[in-house]
Amino acid sequence: MDLKSNEPFWLVKNGIINSYPSLKENASCEVLIVGGGITGSLVAHQCIQDGYKTILIDKREIANGSSSATTAMLQYEIDTPLYLLRKMIGKGAADASYKACAEAIDLLQEIGKEINSEAGFKKKSSLYFAALKKDVPWLLKEYQARKDAGFMVKWLTADAIHRKFKLSNTHGGILSEQGASVDAFRLVHELLSFNKLYGLQVYDRTELLETKTLKSGVKAVLSSGHEIMAHKIIYCTGYESTNLIKENFVNLISTYALVSEVEKKKNKSLKELLIWNTSAPYMYMRTTDDGRILIGGEDEKFVNPEKRDKLIHKKSKNLRKKFEKYIPEIPFNPDYAWAGTFGETKDGLPYIGTHKKFKHSYFVLGFGGNGITFSVIGMAMISKWLSGKKHNLQRYFRFGR
Ligand SMILES: Cc1cc2nc3c(=O)[nH]c(=O)nc-3n(C[C@H](O)[C@H](O)[C@H](O)COP(=O)(O)OP(=O)(O)OC[C@H]3O[C@@H](n4cnc5c(N)ncnc54)[C@H](O)[C@@H]3O)c2cc1C
Repeated sequence: MDLKSNEPFWLVKNGIINSYPSLKENASCEVLIVGGGITGSLVAHQCIQDGYKTILIDKREIANGSSSATTAMLQYEIDTPLYLLRKMIGKGAADASYKACAEAIDLLQEIGKEINSEAGFKKKSSLYFAALKKDVPWLLKEYQARKDAGFMVKWLTADAIHRKFKLSNTHGGILSEQGASVDAFRLVHELLSFNKLYGLQVYDRTELLETKTLKSGVKAVLSSGHEIMAHKIIYCTGYESTNLIKENFVNLISTYALVSEVEKKKNKSLKELLIWNTSAPYMYMRTTDDGRILIGGEDEKFVNPEKRDKLIHKKSKNLRKKFEKYIPEIPFNPDYAWAGTFGETKDGLPYIGTHKKFKHSYFVLGFGGNGITFSVIGMAMISKWLSGKKHNLQRYFRFGR
């Protein structure tokens, strides 16, 4: 599967941060992590912290899957609004899922401090605005649900949004205190470099072909013919997990992103803000730590890479038009545009847990608009399971739910 077009901004900006060898012999470990994106690197961080002998492999270069294409807005807000999620899975579970995402943002900040990260993690507020007048009643319901759940939220009228953030053509929206953004590509490399110092083994260009179940673990057979014996395998294989798991659990689509040149004409309030809206598909926006504006959306319901990439030019124009509609006072001079695969689940929740067809294994698949915060939650879940404990959200994130 081709997860992204050729030129995501983060790859161009960062270049080659680190190189890793491929695995050229047989190996053994307690935990084998398959996938070296943001999920695999966070889970590896946890496994090393918990004292497991851990190997991480990736069939591509490290962080060259979705984690190089992401716009990396870190939100507690799940794609399914809280008031609807409550109807789907119950109030307690829905509130707990939202709260776990909120805590994940703070945890990621802590991890960043611990590893001396320079990946531009920045705490931000998050504005979720009504794109159409008819969206206002349900967005107000959502505001009430979040307030009731204890989140620090304010309802802003269209005028207040304009005064505060110079955003035009909205119909009011929810301003939340909790949110952040980061350079996920750089963070992956930082996490892996840090944990290599504590024994993590990292191999890229190393592909898992198949597994054989043993009594006390799994034998991972690589495309090179070498084998890794592991007590447990953790699949952090992102959207390509659909190649492994045959049932239909995620709906894959294509999404588009566009980043501006470094913008001198500062709108200070934008620096501290994540923006998204209620249109379908939704538009999302943030700034980067080097002073650019990043906008995404324009999703299409297919994943064919050729068809997807042919649309980049047209989609960039649409994204730019949207920016100009909402923030006409700031010029948007496009610099890089790209496309990537994205996944939606029926309830907006991730799939994190065991699968009956994969013995001695766990999956951490943080799909949706806040895939990265879900990956952070996955760290704690894996930590609990490896030590024989349960996690309060496992019922809601499981396969076959
Ligand atoms: C344009 C765009 C915007 C997005 N915006 C946001 C956002 O604002 N906020 C947010 O939270 N999320 C966002 N996402 C989603 C987010 O990018 C993903 O949730 C996240 O990157 C997934 O990380 P991952 O590590 O699970 O997957 P990946 O980064 O894809 O890593 C999986 C890795 O597994 C490897 N792999 C697969 N199969 C094998 C195998 N058999 N053997 C060895 N290796 C294998 C792949 O090579 C790959 O590197 C966005 C995604 C896109 C495309």
